[in-house]
Amino acid sequence: MSRRLGISLGIDLVPYKYCPLNCVYCEVQKTTHQVTKRESYFEVREILDELDNFMATAPHLDYITFSGAGEPTLNSSIGEIVNYIKAKYPSYKLALLTNGVLFNDKEVRQEILPCDIVLPSLDSATQEGFEKINRPCPELKVQDLIEGLVQFRNEYKGTIWLEVFLIKGINDTEEEIEALAKAINRIKPNLVQLNCLDRPGAEDWVNPIPLHNLKQIKAQFKEKTSVPVEIIAKVKYKTTESQLDTELLEMLHSTLIRRPSTAEDLSAMLDIHINEISKVLRQLCLEKKITVKRESRGVFYIWTS
Ligand code: SF4
Repeated sequence: MSRRLGISLGIDLVPYKYCPLNCVYCEVQKTTHQVTKRESYFEVREILDELDNFMATAPHLDYITFSGAGEPTLNSSIGEIVNYIKAKYPSYKLALLTNGVLFNDKEVRQEILPCDIVLPSLDSATQEGFEKINRPCPELKVQDLIEGLVQFRNEYKGTIWLEVFLIKGINDTEEEIEALAKAINRIKPNLVQLNCLDRPGAEDWVNPIPLHNLKQIKAQFKEKTSVPVEIIAKVKYKTTESQLDTELLEMLHSTLIRRPSTAEDLSAMLDIHINEISKVLRQLCLEKKITVKRESRGVFYIWTS
C-alpha cells in the first residue's frame, strides 16, 4: 500500500543509495553515492524478467511505480523500461516518484513522457532552503530544477502531483512559502501535496509541523496559487485511544458527535487525506467508539460514547 498511490508495485532502478540529493528527511537514510551521472546499473532484461514473473499472476494494482532507494531517473535505461511496460501492460497505470533534479535534461524528460503520473518534489524555491533541506551535489541549482519542471509541464500531457516536504523553522517561513508559490504557479502541477515527517528521517533534528500549522500553510498556498493543495502528512495514529493523535481525535469527536459523516466528508472537512482518516476510523470502530451505518450516499460514522 502506498499512501498516495494505493496498491503500488514499486520498481527500484538504482542500487542503495544513489541520489543527487541527500535530503534531511530521507526515509532511506543518508545518501552513500551522491551522483548526477546516469548509468544503466542493472541488466534491463533482468528487471523485465522479474517484472514479467510478477505480472504473470495478474495482480490487482493501482500503479506500477518507479521508486525505491534512490532517484529512478539516474538509471539511463528508464526510457526502455517505461516503453516496455506501457506496450506490454497497457491496462496498468505507470507512476514515477522523482526529485526532478534531472528534468533539465531533455532526454530524461522525453524518456518519461509515457508515464501516466509523475510525482516530483520541490521543498524550497530558494538556493538556501534547497541546500539546507535537500543537501544537493554542489553543482546543482534550485533554479535549474524549477526550470526543468516548467519545461516538463510544457511537454507532458499526464498528471503531475508536486510534493512539498515541510520542515519546521526552515521552509515554513513567509519568504519560503512566497518563493514556492511563485514556482508552483510556473510549474502548474495538477495538485500540490504537503507532507511532513512521520517516521525517522536521515537527521533526528527534523521536526514535524503540527496539523494546525500545516493547515495555515495550505491556506497560504491556496491564496497565492491557482493549484489545488492537499495535506498528505500522516497523522499519527496508534493502537489505543490514549495513543491516538489527540488533535485529530478531538476533531473527529466534535464533528461526529454533532453529525454522522462519511470518511469522504471528514476528509474534506478536516483537510486530512482520506487514507489517514480511514485508518483512524477503523481503529475507533474496533474500540467501539463509533458505529457504522450504510446509507445510499455511503458509509456513515456515528460517535457512540
Ligand atoms: S531525493 Fe528522495 S531518495 Fe534522494 S535523498 Fe531525497 S528523499 Fe532520499
